[in-house]
Amino acid sequence: MTDKAASTSDLTTEVLVLGGGPGGYTAAFRAADLGRQVLLVERYPVLGGVCLNVGCIPSKALLHMAQIIHETQEISRHGVEFEPPKIDTDKIRSWKETITKNLNTGLDSLAGQRKVTRIQGVGTFISDHELQVTGPDGNKIVRFDHAIIAAGSQPTQIPAFPHDDPRLWDSTDALEIKTIPEKLLIVGGGIIGLEMATVYHALGSQISVVELLDQIIPGCDKDLIRPLHNQIKKQYRDIWLETRVTAIEPQQDGLKVSFEGAKAPESAVFDAVLVAVGRRPNGKLIGADKAGITVNEQGFITVDNQQRTNIENIYAIGDIVGNPMLAHKAAYEGKIAAEVIAGHKSAFDALTIPSVAYTDPEIAWMGLTETQAKEQGIAYNKGAFPWAASGRSLSMGRNEGMTKVLCDKETGRILGAGMVGPHAGDLISEAVLALEMGAEAEDVGLTIHPHPTLSETFAFASEVVTGTITDLYLGKKR
Ligand code: NAD
Repeated sequence: MTDKAASTSDLTTEVLVLGGGPGGYTAAFRAADLGRQVLLVERYPVLGGVCLNVGCIPSKALLHMAQIIHETQEISRHGVEFEPPKIDTDKIRSWKETITKNLNTGLDSLAGQRKVTRIQGVGTFISDHELQVTGPDGNKIVRFDHAIIAAGSQPTQIPAFPHDDPRLWDSTDALEIKTIPEKLLIVGGGIIGLEMATVYHALGSQISVVELLDQIIPGCDKDLIRPLHNQIKKQYRDIWLETRVTAIEPQQDGLKVSFEGAKAPESAVFDAVLVAVGRRPNGKLIGADKAGITVNEQGFITVDNQQRTNIENIYAIGDIVGNPMLAHKAAYEGKIAAEVIAGHKSAFDALTIPSVAYTDPEIAWMGLTETQAKEQGIAYNKGAFPWAASGRSLSMGRNEGMTKVLCDKETGRILGAGMVGPHAGDLISEAVLALEMGAEAEDVGLTIHPHPTLSETFAFASEVVTGTITDLYLGKKR
């Protein structure tokens, strides 16, 4: 860094990180641990981004609450009866906020311990070595040697819908639990839509879901979706597939919604509407052009497998570089960018990024899906184990789950796996590790799993592939 450069800037740093979500803070902490001077710019006073403050973590707290409500109802059929729950939305909100604040404080201290400088404000590039930060303390210019962009994404809005009606929600509004609408319409049967449907159903709302495509959670195999679909079909008022919302009109008594599609219902009035139709990257909002960074039409920044943009000293990670928009992908990429800046030969070489819907039942999948295998003509052997044959699942009062594994027909190597059932999101990691380690179905089947656990179902599915299963009778032996 030259003296001249330093004199024209308010601040200088070796590594600038733009955005303090799971991608940004991971990148900042790793770069600091590798001996770099790090400055992190975040628009909000707290670290953690969407995931911690208005996403993954608060939604998991609310889903935990929903699960308890649901379980107390279920167990009443088996001899333990509870009073119906009394809901205090203020207390729920403050409990949820305590959890996020706790984690915010943890991140503050992790940043402090590493001597990461933090600046609050909105950052926009003014050159390939300078960022302007507009914050509560005025404007600052930060001059940097390297930058890591981790500026995330925001909910997709549908332009034709009203934008200033408090009854029309995005995911952040839904997490506020300001009211419990009697009739709640969820537009978008993806992960956010269905997780929030789970929460509001437990709180007492009548739920209707409208999804554009022919299945909920598109991208996931239909056999994994089925147990969830069957469950929510019984609980929710409506699930309209292959249906589009054409208009939302504010009325005194609610939001009047019109639909279109082969199976579209008549227009109807709802007390609130949650729009959860995906997220779009923030690539066009950070002055990327001033730094010469290539941003595509959708707002994604193109990077190579070392997270480097077309500008040599600028890297990008997380939602802003592409799908899937998941915190664990962002954090993985954040470490790569920090390590490459520090001179390591790191690169993105993960074989898969697992996906989880924290619905009830949960759905988790990783690696090749069966749909992809068929589309790509990949020959595979499949082992599926129904949780109706799992003692642990039955003792939890649940029989709808399923674990499946797909293996290469020639080599037996695991190509993909999926699970649906309680805790599927925690169970999928074993399958991810198996894929990363190049394991075959036989390796998993011969790994002793504790009994009785749900984790056994992955071993049993693998034994279906090898023909050594004894917990099912398939009429074949090896
Ligand atoms: P999504 O892409 O998962 O789902 C959006 C759904 O809306 C899709 O099913 C799509 O077909 C449907 N849709 C789109 N336009 C529509 C329209 N006009 N009418 C009806 N349906 C329409 O997006 P999301 O649920 O909003 O989540 C956003 C991002 O956040 C995703 O990348 C998701 O993976 C991520 N996320 C992940 C988790 C998790 O890992 N558990 C949780 C929340 C969000």
